[in-house]
Amino acid sequence: MVVSATAESRTSPRTGRSDVAVSFEFFPPKTDAMEERFWDSLSQLAPLQPRFVSVTYGAGGSTRERTLRMVSRITSETGVPAAAHLTCVGASRDDVDAVVRGYADAGVTRIVALRGDPPEGVGHPFTPHPEGYINAADLVAGIRKLGDFDISVAAYPEKHPNSADWDDEIDNLKRKLDAGADRAITQMFFDNDDYWRFIELARKAGIDAPIVPGIQPIHSFGQISNFAQRCGASIPDWLAKKFEGLENDPETHAKVALDVAGEQVRQLLDSGVREFHFYTLNRSHLVLELTRLLDIEVSA
Ligand code: FAD
Repeated sequence: MVVSATAESRTSPRTGRSDVAVSFEFFPPKTDAMEERFWDSLSQLAPLQPRFVSVTYGAGGSTRERTLRMVSRITSETGVPAAAHLTCVGASRDDVDAVVRGYADAGVTRIVALRGDPPEGVGHPFTPHPEGYINAADLVAGIRKLGDFDISVAAYPEKHPNSADWDDEIDNLKRKLDAGADRAITQMFFDNDDYWRFIELARKAGIDAPIVPGIQPIHSFGQISNFAQRCGASIPDWLAKKFEGLENDPETHAKVALDVAGEQVRQLLDSGVREFHFYTLNRSHLVLELTRLLDIEVSA
């Protein structure tokens, strides 16, 4: 049985690791070489029987065609369930609805529904398109009207930069789930206490949907810390210290990355979490090693 993380489950004894569900996030490749790596990684990870693999949607819809192409091919050419990300930045409702219909026509019934970031970047005020969905909750409600989709939304264990306070953050997540989302997937985080604090606030607010931790294996510390900074996730000092001086030592860097992600996932497993979303950056290597290290036998 796959269970979602609940505040109560933190103290439950572990019942084995054959009941873990995973999903993997990819981005749509830009070049032929990147596309080759995308398919290689997907075929390496497919035997883990992910619940789904998701493909992101570039800022402002910049990858609209590529996202559709990748999820269509995953659906028609592999046995792996695909989820398509979708944002409502800079697009009218009609445009966004057309993308949703395109996903449905390609047999893709899983959507990760997001507001997206303003062109100026995360943290800047968001101005919806005059005829567009105003935020992710509004988008979820719109998608629900268009068909029977499985919908995931984003959650932020360290609070989204646009949220005034924690009440604002949790109310917003509740609105997305009340509008019809099935689960939330978190932004990357490196301190599990942030995740548990968030889970506690959500459960207190009556949210009982799964809140799946988003795990970011650190393929390149420089790249991930830049990315974390851009999306409002923090890099703890202890983490920065671990990678200090490893820029030109890929072997040790990979070992430390495995150790860090392994410890994070191990602690979450020990506290009862049985579902994980991995940000792969189209690389399979660290995720594969991680599942082997933790002896995760995944369930479909
Ligand atoms: P929302 O939940 O709509 O809200 C964001 C913030 O705005 C919250 O702080 C909320 O409190 C506030 N807010 C909402 N409505 C209002 C309102 N009416 N008035 C005032 N404040 C309001 N981005 C991409 O471009 N493409 C992707 O594929 C993508 N995939 C992602 C996957 C995951 C798992 C995660 C965690 C993030 C992803 N993102 C992606 C990033 C995401 O688009 C940004 O974090 C964006 O800033 C917020 O999107 P959201 O869906 O969380 O927005």
